[in-house]
Amino acid sequence: MLDLAIIGGGPAGLTAGLYATRGGLENVVMFERGMPGGAITQSSEVENYPGIKEVVTGMELMAPWPEQCMRFGLKQEMAEVARLTRDGEGVFTVHLSDGSTHRALTALVCTGGTPRKAGFKGEEEFFGKGVSTCATCDGFFYKDKEVAVVGGGDTALEEALYLANICSKVHVIHRRSEFRAAPSTVKRAMANEKIDFITDAVVEEVYGDAMGVQGLKIRKKSGELIDLPVPGVFVFVGYDVNNAVLKQEDGSWLCDLNEWGQVIVDLSMRTSVPGLYAAGDVRIQAPKQVVCAAGDGATAALQAIEYVQHKKREAK
Ligand code: FAD
Ligand code: NAP
Repeated sequence: MLDLAIIGGGPAGLTAGLYATRGGLENVVMFERGMPGGAITQSSEVENYPGIKEVVTGMELMAPWPEQCMRFGLKQEMAEVARLTRDGEGVFTVHLSDGSTHRALTALVCTGGTPRKAGFKGEEEFFGKGVSTCATCDGFFYKDKEVAVVGGGDTALEEALYLANICSKVHVIHRRSEFRAAPSTVKRAMANEKIDFITDAVVEEVYGDAMGVQGLKIRKKSGELIDLPVPGVFVFVGYDVNNAVLKQEDGSWLCDLNEWGQVIVDLSMRTSVPGLYAAGDVRIQAPKQVVCAAGDGATAALQAIEYVQHKKREAK
């Protein structure tokens, strides 16, 4: 029986592994379907992780993390988790995609999320070289420059407002003339003189060279083609929370989620189910930053230690 099963090996999972093992839990396994490190390993420039003064790649930032955790006894299994269940006695079972299972006293879900792609030409090719899905991460690289934002939802307009504090101009490109975002957010964005709107329009192509993005070709519904010479484009067309492991065979969810599929947690990262925690980008109101995911992981691990100690005392 594991003391703690960690699902996901990004900053949240690794930090939880470090705190849980160093804090005395035995038999802690982190299940990660790929290489540990998480979403940040896709980034070519990280300059906002505290204590790291140089600009580093995401790979460089994360490289020492697994070794540090393993030193205190964290075990890693390279495996995809298909489902997490809990029996009547409160014991969790981790069901791996290969059919094998592991039982655990506590479980932590930190499987992150996946921003959706808009689907225009060049979006994949220039991802990380001018195409971004994170204004907090990359906005500063465009200080006093013009950028574009794609999307008309709450995220697009809130991030456009954030970018307007940094950039000289923010062009919001939306495929309709009405916005999905809350009316108050639309009003604030429209009142911001640094934000302009290109509506009834879709991005056809992002173009550039080896140095990165140089501009966008935008097609209006009227047929008009607009060339927008900007070095950065932020795509906010929806976000999928990686919550599939919490889905039960009968279609219900193991714990409470909000309407957008984010796991509801309290300030201690406790879900609605005793002994089950969630941390990082998978949880409600996640700031979607490495430092925050790491903090969540530590918080969740400290809670798991307390829970396991209590369970073991009870069993004596
Ligand atoms: P993730 O890092 O997403 O890790 C989740 C892990 O779970 C993944 O490794 C995944 O493989 C694994 N997983 C998912 N499902 C399963 C399953 N069923 N079974 C097994 N494993 C599973 N943040 C910053 O602070 N600064 C930046 O500059 C910055 N730049 C970014 C640039 C890019 C291109 C991207 C994509 C993100 C950036 N971020 C940045 C955001 C940051 O990467 C995330 O906020 C952070 O990684 C979230 O950590 P996490 O542990 O919650 O989830
Ligand atoms: P969203 O509400 O689904 O909005 C996505 C936007 O992208 C929509 O405007 C959509 O256009 C557009 N879009 C989708 N696919 C596209 C494509 N291929 N090309 C061009 N445009 C495309 O997503 P979100 O903004 O990430 O928000 C997700 C959920 O979180 C929402 O329910 C939102 O309300 C919520 N949220 C709330 C807050 C808040 O309350 N403060 C903040 C952020 C997010 P259409 O409108 O034409 O479909």
